[in-house]
Amino acid sequence: MSELVSGPTWHPPSTAASAKTASALFTAAFGGEPSGVWAAPGRVNLIGEHVDYAGGVCLPFALGHRTWAAVRPRSDGQLRLVSGQLDEPWTGALADVAPGHPAGWAAYLAGTAWALGEEGLLSRGFGGIDAAVHSDVPVGAGLSSSAALECSLGVALLDLFGGGAGALDSPARSGLVRAGVRAENEIALASTGGMDQATAVHARAGYCLRLDCATFETRQLPFAPAGHGLAILVVNTNAPHRLVDSQYQDRRAAVDRAAALLGVPALGRLESVAEARSGLAAVGEEDPVLLRRVRHVITESARARAAADLLEAGRVAELGPLLDASHTSLRDDYALSCPELESAVDASRAAGALGARLVGGGFGGSAIALVGASAVGQVVTEVRAEAARRGLTEPSFLLAEPSAAAGRG
Ligand code: ADP
Ligand code: MG
Repeated sequence: MSELVSGPTWHPPSTAASAKTASALFTAAFGGEPSGVWAAPGRVNLIGEHVDYAGGVCLPFALGHRTWAAVRPRSDGQLRLVSGQLDEPWTGALADVAPGHPAGWAAYLAGTAWALGEEGLLSRGFGGIDAAVHSDVPVGAGLSSSAALECSLGVALLDLFGGGAGALDSPARSGLVRAGVRAENEIALASTGGMDQATAVHARAGYCLRLDCATFETRQLPFAPAGHGLAILVVNTNAPHRLVDSQYQDRRAAVDRAAALLGVPALGRLESVAEARSGLAAVGEEDPVLLRRVRHVITESARARAAADLLEAGRVAELGPLLDASHTSLRDDYALSCPELESAVDASRAAGALGARLVGGGFGGSAIALVGASAVGQVVTEVRAEAARRGLTEPSFLLAEPSAAAGRG
């Protein structure tokens, strides 16, 4: 690999260093030592984008970049929370956690404690916590720092107050997926479909998760790009987010409407665009925008299934055209791209990437490129130069190496 990829910005900092940072933050904020440090990963979705809420198939995997939570129990019903990434600490009563309260970042943590209780996963002895979090996952870059935050605290609480249910082989871990989703939807009032939390809870190093979002069934698919002389490069465009939430709601509403008109529970399960079109025409629906949204969901889910087959056969190097087609579909049928993402994808391909696409919500955030390991430096140079040529914000980069799920750090 080139010199460039060995720099500290590429790979996550060492486990020991990050755990120590969270511990030191804890001691500075609360005094004394935490009971332990737990961590949960960010994620990137290889393919199957914007199909989770349509019951389609997606292939997310965990990053080596993790969010670390140093935690100690309390007995007075209070939650005291600090973050190394944000200035405002938060203190409040567990009993007061409710929709929209707390507002801001603390909602993800307080919401997780609340939701685990609602799910019946914490013992009656749970009487609050002091928690300090430190994140190596870029925040708000489409790499799911929010689920990493929820699940870092969530596994801590399951270990401390859930009878050790944070352990990797514990069946109760699945409850953390639901709790994270509820924290985000019901307390932080943010939209999330569950892919992020499922990845943080179920991921395995060297594997990609095949997640069927209709049933939430998961299958582990071997995925170790380095073993094939390849790398997944993540380009964080650092673009300012533009209307991501309203656009997300709009696409979700289109999917729900099409499914209702067709009388199917999960649009992402359909296999034929032509059949969906004739079904919609039969009920008088011929809106070309809606038809494009439907086409994305059906073809993207098919691409994710095809990619899963390739991974199962060990044909990692053949993923490129599927990534490219995913990007085209997200850009043209789902209308989610922006100048920064186009620049990153164009420049990656021009510099030799086997395939590239936008990931996450769109309108900013990140793109991924499948790149020969020896070409990573070249791709980075080109992506950076192209952004400058187009007058765009300077992107940042990290290598996505399929990594382990949440657990004790
Ligand atoms: P993503 O999950 O893609 O990073 P989201 O908008 O879903 O983007 O979540 C980002 C939000 O999660 C931040 O605005 C903040 O409220 C919260 N968050 C994530 N990581 C941290 C952290 N380390 N400290 C405090 N808040 C965080
Ligand atoms: Mg998120």
